[in-house]
Amino acid sequence: MEKIFNNTVDAFALKSDTELDRAYFLFKLIASEPLVKIGTAVTNFALKVHLPVEGLIRATVFDHFCGGTTEEDCLPVVDKMFTKGVCSVLDYSVEAKEAESEFDKALEKTLKTIEFAKERKAIPFAVFKPTGFGRFDLWVKLGEGKTFTSEETAEWNRVVERFDIVCKTAHANDVALLIDAEESWMQDAADDLVADMMRKYNNEKAIVYNTLQMYRWDRLDYLKKLHEQAKQEGFYIGMKIVRGAYMEKENKRAEELGYISPICVSKEATDINYDEAIKYMIDHIDSMAIFAGTHNEESSYKLMELMAQKNIASNDKRIYFGQLYGMSDNISFNLAAHNYNVAKYLPFGPVRDVMPYLIRRAEENTSVAGQTSRELNLISAERKRRKLQD
Ligand SMILES: Cc1cc2nc3c(=O)[nH]c(=O)nc-3n(C[C@H](O)[C@H](O)[C@H](O)COP(=O)(O)OP(=O)(O)OC[C@H]3O[C@@H](n4cnc5c(N)ncnc54)[C@H](O)[C@@H]3O)c2cc1C
Repeated sequence: MEKIFNNTVDAFALKSDTELDRAYFLFKLIASEPLVKIGTAVTNFALKVHLPVEGLIRATVFDHFCGGTTEEDCLPVVDKMFTKGVCSVLDYSVEAKEAESEFDKALEKTLKTIEFAKERKAIPFAVFKPTGFGRFDLWVKLGEGKTFTSEETAEWNRVVERFDIVCKTAHANDVALLIDAEESWMQDAADDLVADMMRKYNNEKAIVYNTLQMYRWDRLDYLKKLHEQAKQEGFYIGMKIVRGAYMEKENKRAEELGYISPICVSKEATDINYDEAIKYMIDHIDSMAIFAGTHNEESSYKLMELMAQKNIASNDKRIYFGQLYGMSDNISFNLAAHNYNVAKYLPFGPVRDVMPYLIRRAEENTSVAGQTSRELNLISAERKRRKLQD
C-alpha cells in the first residue's frame, strides 16, 4: 500500500503557524509523565477551589482537544475540517455523572446532535456512552444477573427508554449512531441492549453501531455469535472497532478480584485480534458496516489494503476511519485527501466537566509508546518545512 501518512502539508493544511506552535508545545508538555501528574493535580485543585483557571485551560489543552463548550461552538471547527473532506462526530464528553437529571440531559444533547447531523453532510454520526444514559452500578448488576429491586427495575426501564428514543430518532432521520464501549464488567448488559436496538433499527442498513474493544480476547467470538443472530433474524451489524481505553483498570480489577483478565496477553496479541476483527467484517461487508477507530497507521494501511483487494471503493459508505480531534491529523487528513471516509470525534462540554476526558487524553499521550513522539516529529517536520519556505 502506498504510504501516505507522512505528508505533513495535507496533514496540517488547516493549522496556522501559531496553532502548530501551540500543538508542538502541548505535546512536548504531555510527553513528560511527571508534568502530566503535577499538571493534573494542580488543575483539579484549582477547579475545586474555584480559582480562575478555566481561561488558561481553554487557551491550551481544551482548544486543542475540544470543539467548544456547546454544539454551536463546534460548528466553525466542523465546517473548517469539512473543507478538507474530514467529517466530525459531536461528542458530549461529560463523564461520570450519576443523577437521573444528568442522564436526561445527555439524552437531550444526543438528540440535538442527531438534529445537527441530519442537516449536515459534515456530521455523519451521532455518539453516546451507555453510562451517560444510566448508572454504572445498574449496568454491572444487570450484567452479573442479579435481581433488581422494584426501584431499580423502574430505573432500568428509563435507561431502555432513553436508548430507544435515541435509536428511533437516529433511524427516523437516517443518521448513524455510535455507542461507545466501556469497562468489561458493565459491558455485557450494554451489549445486550445495543443488540436489541440493532434488531429493531438495523433492518435496512446499519444505523446503530456498537463498539468492540479488541484488547479483549473474547471479542472476535462475540462478533461471530452476533453475526449468526443477525443472519437468522435479518439485521445489519454496525461496529466501531477499537483497541480499548481501560487496559490498566481492567488488569488491576482482574488481579484484585482473582479472575482471568479479559485483556489480551500482549500488545501484539491485541494487534492481531484487531486485524482479525477488521478482516472478518470486510469479509462480510454485505451485512455489516465498520467504523475503524484507531490512531495506528499500520491498522489503517491494512484496512485500506483489504478494501483494495476486495475492490471496495475508498469512499464506500459502509467504511469509516475515525480519530480523535487533536490527534493523528496525519492519518485523518491524508486519508480524506485520498477520498476515504474519515470522521473525527469532536468533544464538547463545559470546561470543568470535560476535564476527565482531557486528563485521559494527556495520560494516553504520555503512556502510548510512540504516539507523542510521532506527533512531535510530524509537527517539527512541518514547522521546518514552513520556515524554509519563508
Ligand atoms: C474515534 C475513536 C473512538 C474510540 N472509542 C472508544 C470506545 O468507545 N471505547 C474504548 O474503550 N476506547 C475507544 N477509543 C480509544 C481506543 O480504544 C484506544 O485506546 C486508542 O485509540 C489507542 O489505540 P490505537 O489503536 O489508536 O493505537 P495503538 O497505539 O496501536 O494501541 C494502543 C492500545 O493497544 C492496547 N495495548 C497496549 N498495550 C497492550 C498490552 N501490553 N497488552 C494488550 N493490549 C495492549 C491498548 O488498548 C492501547 O490503548 C476510541 C478511539 C478512537 C480514535
